[in-house]
This record gives sequence, C-alpha cells and structure tokens, in this order.
Amino acid sequence: MTDRGLLLAPPHTSRASGISNLDGSISTSVEPFLSERHLALRETVRRFALETIVPIATELDESCTFPWESVKAMADMGLLGVPIPQEYGGMGLDYMSYVLVVEELAKYDATHAITVSAHTTLGTSPILNFGSSEQKERYLPLLAGGKVLGGFGLTEPGAGSDSGGTRTRAIRENGGYRLNGAKIFITHAGVGEIFTVTAVTDAKAGANGITSFIVTKPTVDLEKAETLGFGHAGDLEFMAGVRAGKKEDKMGWRASDTRELVLEDVYVPEANRLGDEGRGFRNFMKTLDAGRIGIAGLSLGLAEGAFEVAMRYAHEREQFGRKILDFQQVQFKLSEMATDIEAGRLLTYRAAWLKDNGRPFGKEAAMAKLFCSELSMRATLQAVQILGGAGYTDEYPVERMARDAKVCEIGEGTSEVQKLVIGRHLVKEMFGA
Ligand SMILES: Cc1cc2nc3c(=O)[nH]c(=O)nc-3n(C[C@H](O)[C@H](O)[C@H](O)COP(=O)(O)OP(=O)(O)OC[C@H]3O[C@@H](n4cnc5c(N)ncnc54)[C@H](O)[C@@H]3O)c2cc1C
Repeated sequence: MTDRGLLLAPPHTSRASGISNLDGSISTSVEPFLSERHLALRETVRRFALETIVPIATELDESCTFPWESVKAMADMGLLGVPIPQEYGGMGLDYMSYVLVVEELAKYDATHAITVSAHTTLGTSPILNFGSSEQKERYLPLLAGGKVLGGFGLTEPGAGSDSGGTRTRAIRENGGYRLNGAKIFITHAGVGEIFTVTAVTDAKAGANGITSFIVTKPTVDLEKAETLGFGHAGDLEFMAGVRAGKKEDKMGWRASDTRELVLEDVYVPEANRLGDEGRGFRNFMKTLDAGRIGIAGLSLGLAEGAFEVAMRYAHEREQFGRKILDFQQVQFKLSEMATDIEAGRLLTYRAAWLKDNGRPFGKEAAMAKLFCSELSMRATLQAVQILGGAGYTDEYPVERMARDAKVCEIGEGTSEVQKLVIGRHLVKEMFGA
C-alpha cells in the first residue's frame, strides 16, 4: 500500500498528471487573477503547511486539541492579519491574498484554515469596516498583529439561518448597555478574547432594531497562552459576564474551537457599540458577504487537497496488474474533480477580484460559496472512493477532508440560504428593488 507520508510530500516539480496544479503552479486559465506576489505568498504558506501542519493534522483531528503552537507560528508569519492595513498591524495585502492563504492551508488542514478565516473576516473585519477610530486603534493591532484571537457572535438557538430572529437583548443603562443572551456555535468562543456580537436594542424594529457590540473575555487556555506569549492580552479590560459555554464535539473541523458564548448581565460601555444603533444586522450581513469568499477558498482547498491525494494514490495503487489510474472509470472521476476545481477557482477568484476592485460582489460571493462547498463535498467523497478501503481509514487524510467539507455547506449561511441570497440578487438585477 502507498505510504501516507509520500502522498502528502511536496509534489514533483514536473507535472505528474498534466491535469491540474500538482506542482503548485497556476494553470493558464486562472493566471489573470494572480500576480507573482500572490504566487510567492501561496508558496510560502504551502511550505509552512507541509513542514508544520501536515505532521500534526491527524492527531489534532483525533484529539480535538486547538493547535496553539502552530496558530502562534501563523500569527508570527502575519497570517492573522493578511488583508488588514499595516497601520493596524496587518500585512496590508489584498483580499485575493487572504483567500489564497485560506485555500492553501485547507489543502492540508481545514482547522488551520478556518482559524485564519473566522479570525480575519468574522472577528477582525467588522471592527475595521464599521468601528470608530478609537475602536480600530484599540482592538485591531491586537487582532491583526496576531496577539489574540477574535470571533463573531451572530447565531443563537432560535436564530440560525433566520439570524434576524436574535433574542439577545441590550438595554440602555448608565451611558452604556446591559447585554443578556447566548450565542451558539461560535468559532473561538473559548480560545478567543475579542468578539463582535449582535443584540436587540429596539424590539419593535425587527432587523433594524439589532445593534452590534464589541465584547471581551479572557481566553480559556490562559496558562498555555501566557507560556506561548500568544492568545492573551493582559491589558484588555475584560467584561464581567462574558464567558465561553459548552464546547462542541464536531464531525469535522474538530480541532477548531466551537462553543457557546454566554452574555450574562454584561455591562458594555457606549464606546464599545460597533456602529450606530440599529445597524448591527445589516453590517453583519455585509461581513458575511465577504466571509463567504473565504469559505469558498477553504472549500476549494479541501477539494484540491483530496484531488492531489487521490491522483497520487491512483498513480501508485495497482489492481488487475495495472495502475488503477489506467482504468477509465477512475480517470473520469479525476477528470470531473479537476474540472469542478477549475470552475470553483474561477468563481472564487473572480469574487475576490470584484471585492478588491471595489465592485459589487455579494451575488458572486454567494455563488462561489455555494458551488465550492458542494464541490468540496463531492470531491472529498470521490477521493475516498478512489482510495477504496484505505480512504475510509485515518491512514489517509481524505476521510477527514470529507468530514471537514460538510460544514462548508452549513457555516456562514447554508447552501439553501446561498440560493436565497443569489435569488434576491437575480430578481433585483432583472426587476429592480
Ligand atoms: C463548526 C461551526 C462553526 C460556526 N461558527 C460560527 C461563528 O463563528 N459565528 C456564528 O455566528 N455562527 C457560527 N456558526 C453557525 C452557522 O452559521 C449556523 O449553523 C448556520 O447559519 C445555520 O443555522 P442553524 O444551524 O441554526 O440551522 P437552521 O437555520 O436551523 O437550518 C436547518 C435547515 O433548514 C434549512 N433552512 C432554514 N431556513 C430556510 C429557508 N428559508 N429556506 C430553505 N431552507 C431553510 C437550512 O438550510 C438547513 O438545511 C457555526 C456553525 C458551525 C457548525
């Protein structure tokens, strides 16, 4: 049987298949979107992933342990602030660069990819996009500079796809607000320290009565964070009543930290209201528009990772005295996967390009997320099929990739919700508001 280490080793310098990017280079069909700097960044992330993440990915998945050390290494490389301006501690690169980082990490491990994605688009960008200059100066250097992790609290037990159904309340009190409620499935609710959350400030105004706030709490792994010098900012004023709740035991993204975020009688000063009262829901929807391009990239990376493993396995595994790659039924599966991946890449890079060029991108982001998350599920399951029994065991990463792919069809809006978003755009384009 083919050795797992070999299947995860850096690809050959020559194109092993002639079908796709096994050598890490870019195919001519997508080059228009990428510069030499994009390719260099991708290569750096690829080397980091192969050296640091691949050796620990299976163990992390099995033990559900948050990878503090390798996340700190990503922070040291600047990967926790790729599209955030340098004045706030980020790398100051474009959104395409950020998407490429997430995609490249996901080829090897979805947990590291979602850590960068949730921290950047969900945790950090609302403060960059909607925060006051004081809020930006206070929180962005900690987040984008890679000192602490951030998160985004929208989902509640009764408010999932219908996120306008938020029950968390914010009542005005002494020049600030008193928050009560609970958010569920929040990425980094345990390990993170800075969160933007939504709460109802005017119950009669529906979605226009929802406001967002910045709240803080210490990380649950204080000792670890202090030892590493990453994950805890001692000078943050932590708010009494904000705490991490139940940790989820998940099907995929198992080493990523997903928990309840409880808000119990939390006093939030007015200075921590993010944007105007009543703008919280709309601002969070804009945040999700951009976040979806990142999830498309993550989904794409998973599909590409599974494709690479399947291609190599098919090249080496022999049955009936021939490489299984020689069987037309196996080749057709790989051909379909490669075609799907190219299509997903074009949708994703185009959405990122539109965003980088100041064009409307909401419809294209939803299309990229819908297509790539479903492609990711198809491709990872096909990879399991191509590896046969071996693919069903943890000897190879494709069973983990298939489990990791499923949530891409759920988080940041389910596939059904993406279709609603796309449909709304189509109707507006054709018939006006
Ligand atoms: C690992 C993980 C990490 C997450 N991280 C975060 C995070 O950091 N922050 C955050 O706020 N949330 C987070 N979420 C929550 C995620 O965004 C929600 O799970 C998602 O939006 C779906 O909501 P729900 O689970 O309540 O499903 P529901 O809304 O209850 O949906 C159940 C089913 O009904 C379908 N459905 C619902 N409404 C419609 C409709 N109108 N038309 C057709 N079908 C419909 C859905 O598509 C789905 O198939 C995370 C979830 C997971 C699993």
